[in-house]
Amino acid sequence: MRRRQATTLFVTVAMAAGFAAFGFPWSALNEGWHRSPEITVISPAADPRLPVLEEALEFWNHTFAGLGTPFRLGTIHRVVDELPDADLQALSGVTAGWFSDGMLRGAWLRQHPAPFDRFGGDLLICLSSAKFISFSSRIGNRRLIAIKNAQLEPLTMPNVLRNVIAHELGHAIGLGHNSDPTTLMCGRPAPCRPNLYASETPHFFPLTEADRDRLRRLYPANWGR
Ligand SMILES: [Zn+2]
Repeated sequence: MRRRQATTLFVTVAMAAGFAAFGFPWSALNEGWHRSPEITVISPAADPRLPVLEEALEFWNHTFAGLGTPFRLGTIHRVVDELPDADLQALSGVTAGWFSDGMLRGAWLRQHPAPFDRFGGDLLICLSSAKFISFSSRIGNRRLIAIKNAQLEPLTMPNVLRNVIAHELGHAIGLGHNSDPTTLMCGRPAPCRPNLYASETPHFFPLTEADRDRLRRLYPANWGR
C-alpha cells in the first residue's frame, strides 16, 4: 500500500512537473529496469577512475550472470565533459534517504537541472572533480550517479573507489542500504561506509542474501521477455 501511494504521488508530481508519465525505462518507482540502461559516462579525458568504473560494471554483470538473469548494464557512451559543480553539490545534499526497502525518498521529486539535458542515455555516470558526497539519484526519467573528486579522502584509500562506484551502481539497479559493514550495500543510517572499504587487497564487498533475493525479483530469469 505504501508503495502504491508513493507511486501515485510520483506520477502526480511528475505530471505536474510536465514529464511524460509514460515511457519510463523502468516499470514503476524503485522497481527494476525493464530494458538495459544506456549508460553515458561524463568525465575528464583519460580519467583514472574510468578503468575502475569498468571493473565495477563487470562486477555487476558477472553478478547478474550468476543470478541467471539476462539483465545487464548496457552500452556505454563516453563523453569528455563535466556537469556543473553546484548542481551536483545541490543534488548530493538532497540524496540522503536510501532506505532498506530500496526506496529513495526525496530526490526523485526533482527534475534534472537543465545542464543535464544535453546528454543522452538512461543512466548518467558523472566522474566529477568537485567535492560532495558521491550519490545515486533518480530524477525525472533517468538515473544519475555522481562520483566526487578522487583526489579527496576517502576515495584516495586503497579499494574504496571501486566499492563506492559499485555501491552507487547497486542503488541504480534498485538496491537499498543494510547495516552490515562487511557488505557492499551497507550505508546510512548505519555508520559503515566508506572508510571500511579500505583494504590493500582490491576486492568488491559481497552482497547480502536479501540483496540477491531482491535482484532475483527485479530481474528474473525471464526478464525482458
Ligand atoms: Zn548508498
